[in-house]
Amino acid sequence: MADNPMLKFTTVQRDMPQKRAPDLRGRDFREIYAEYAGDKAREQSSRCSQCGVPYCQSHCPLHNNIPDWLRLTAEGRLREAYELSQATNTFPEICGRICPQDRLCEGNCVIETAGHGTVTIGAVEKYITDTAWEEGWVTPAKPTQERAQSAAIIGAGPGGLAAADVLRRAGIQVTVYDRYDRGGGLLTYGIPGFKLEKDVVMRRMQQLEEGGVTFRLNCTIGQDVSFADLRRDHDAVIIATGVYKSRDLAGPGSGAKGIVRAIDYLTASNRRSFGDDVPDFDSGELNASGKRVVVIGGGDTAMDCVRTAIRQGATSVKCLYRRDRANMPGSLREVANAEEEGVIFDWLSLPKGFGGDPVSSVRVQQMRLGAADVTGRRAPEEIDGAVHDEPADLVIKALGFEAEALPTLWDQPELEVTRWGTIKAEFTTGRTSLPGVYAVGDIVRGASLVVWAIRDGRDCAAALLDDLTTAAQPVAAE
Ligand code: FAD
Ligand code: SF4
Ligand code: SF4
Repeated sequence: MADNPMLKFTTVQRDMPQKRAPDLRGRDFREIYAEYAGDKAREQSSRCSQCGVPYCQSHCPLHNNIPDWLRLTAEGRLREAYELSQATNTFPEICGRICPQDRLCEGNCVIETAGHGTVTIGAVEKYITDTAWEEGWVTPAKPTQERAQSAAIIGAGPGGLAAADVLRRAGIQVTVYDRYDRGGGLLTYGIPGFKLEKDVVMRRMQQLEEGGVTFRLNCTIGQDVSFADLRRDHDAVIIATGVYKSRDLAGPGSGAKGIVRAIDYLTASNRRSFGDDVPDFDSGELNASGKRVVVIGGGDTAMDCVRTAIRQGATSVKCLYRRDRANMPGSLREVANAEEEGVIFDWLSLPKGFGGDPVSSVRVQQMRLGAADVTGRRAPEEIDGAVHDEPADLVIKALGFEAEALPTLWDQPELEVTRWGTIKAEFTTGRTSLPGVYAVGDIVRGASLVVWAIRDGRDCAAALLDDLTTAAQPVAAE
């Protein structure tokens, strides 16, 4: 009987791809993890115990068939592994890089629970699809028949692009509108290159174009084209605009120069990496070089800001968060990466005000964790008299994002929203209160994750295809 290539977790140690040394990676915006060599990917895949009820799969928002593509990788059947992986995920190589695996698939791997260290699912997923790109297996949409029906998608982030891919493969005429000059949404202008290099996103954009998706960039719906016109010109409209209204800080001095929003700071840095002209970067306003930087917030956006500031040559970088390490929303893996790169975390620290204009300090109130609040989380409370001034030349506010008021901006009072301002849509289909109008991603969920936006985009496209089926008028492909 042939040797079973799997269940090697007792003899093969968990081994992530090599991480570049902190002092080297802190000097550029390239990704910090190397790619697995083929043998290593096979070896690491072979650790999977092929669970009958795979918790990794049930905790992956896309329900990726993880055990099967791990087995195929362990057996060296990479092309089949790729086919299986891409059947449920539009952008596996992107999820492999930036999903918070420790909270999703890997965080629920049973061999981790048994003390052996999780299978490195994300790194293998990335390896499979990066290899597929190298081998030319990733091909543009080639619909077997064209359909006359058209869909407009507002927003070229992962939610909109995932929907565009499914619809285009089914022969729908798809136009994606985006207010930025490049597609990708936060994949392009939010998430820094050290987590996701930009050519990984751009090659996907190019492939969607080659598959027949039309992109209208530099086009803001509500300004350059009205929402009503889109509804008139297309059979269906998908809203995938994300959430961009930054939560703000109050307190004395909060309007001083040198206190900036995370999204502006990260966008400027990403544009710089593309080689664009960025006057606010050149002027120093959105550039941390030579500055004492304080970032306020404890989520993934804050982690991206602190690590960007290190790479820009800040003299010091501190992160203030009002709860402690165990209660922060950001990925602990990213905190560890930031600490290795020289970021200092001041836990249980609340900014109460700012000194100087331009800013020269942050007034910091020390906190402690008190009783649990209604959500079960222990609420931070102030410690009397424990206040100090933290020197700062650049303060970056990374406190989260909210939805823009789309019904008002687009003059669509019938478009129903939730009490948080996000669009009210059925989670499994994206259908909204307006006929023929769907919504996906962060604009429905609030600030969330790339993998959820992809899931929404795919589900919504499937529902939209169902809805269009009765009216379908196939025309012969040319
Ligand atoms: P977006 O990606 O926001 O795309 C929306 C698009 O709509 C944008 O391109 C925008 O220009 C366009 N748009 C908006 N309004 C209009 C309009 N009126 N007209 C035309 N176009 C419009 N998630 C992870 O899973 N892992 C991470 O590591 C991670 N890191 C993150 C780091 C940062 C700094 C941020 C801000 C978010 C991060 N996220 C991460 C979250 C993730 O990026 C989002 O959940 C995801 O991008 C949402 O996808 P989306 O398609 O809904 O919206
Ligand atoms: Fe894990 Fe994300 Fe890949 Fe799912 S998509 S298997 S959660 S890395
Ligand atoms: Fe394999 Fe872990 Fe998933 Fe089980 S939970 S199938 S061991 S990856």
